[in-house]
Amino acid sequence: MSTPSICNGSYPTRSAASKSKSPKRISSAIAKCSTFPYFVDRASHFREDSAWIGARLNDPTTRLIVIYHSAVLCHEDNAALPCFLSPDRANIDLKASIFLGQVDGITYFTLSIHTEDEAHHFSRAHQATFKDYASSAPVLQFEYRDLVSLACFTNYWHSRHRKCGTCGSATTTGSAGHRRICTSTTCAQQYFPSMDPAVIMLIEHEDRCLLGRQQHWPEGMHSTLAGFVEQGECHYKLKRNEAQTNRATHFDGEDQLGW
Ligand SMILES: [Zn+2]
Repeated sequence: MSTPSICNGSYPTRSAASKSKSPKRISSAIAKCSTFPYFVDRASHFREDSAWIGARLNDPTTRLIVIYHSAVLCHEDNAALPCFLSPDRANIDLKASIFLGQVDGITYFTLSIHTEDEAHHFSRAHQATFKDYASSAPVLQFEYRDLVSLACFTNYWHSRHRKCGTCGSATTTGSAGHRRICTSTTCAQQYFPSMDPAVIMLIEHEDRCLLGRQQHWPEGMHSTLAGFVEQGECHYKLKRNEAQTNRATHFDGEDQLGW
């Protein structure tokens, strides 16, 4: 199999958006390193257009992100660079591909593989290796993170919704991978990807900040504090609880930077 084609050159960079000028406070620096602009055009109006989706899957400029159990196919010699494949070089049935969106006119899909044999095949054929997303995300090239996180989330959601929660029948995909439908004709329940609300906070004091880490994380990996929001829970109270759990015993206030 040929060497995988890599998307480059036309992908916008966010270096200009992420630059900050001598921030006086750490939170100011974070605000200037906003996650916006978000470059992926979800192009949701195409999801029901099977002819358009089919044409894009036969378009040599289209790119695929391959996922195996929450791990991303990355270049063997550069774990920060996802291995974007063109459809003609994926050498696999693409019917199960999920449409992610477009960036600068390039269409992106993601494909989940399920067996170890398939994973070995992709690794050998493309001089690539599967990298666990949670641990590799911090080192992924910044401009690719939106797409890769979207691919991982989408595949994870599908892996957890293969059975109908109402009647237990198998589900199948619809809308180019943006919903699942119960195959029982008497049920036909539909499921859509949803997100769990969470808060993330940066606790700072003068020029220092409080970070946390989990025992299983790679050495040197730390994170700002975060937690999931339970039903009816106030986000401010949750932040205070998370802060105090992590030894910030005096939580005086907050600057809300965004939702
Ligand atoms: Zn059902």
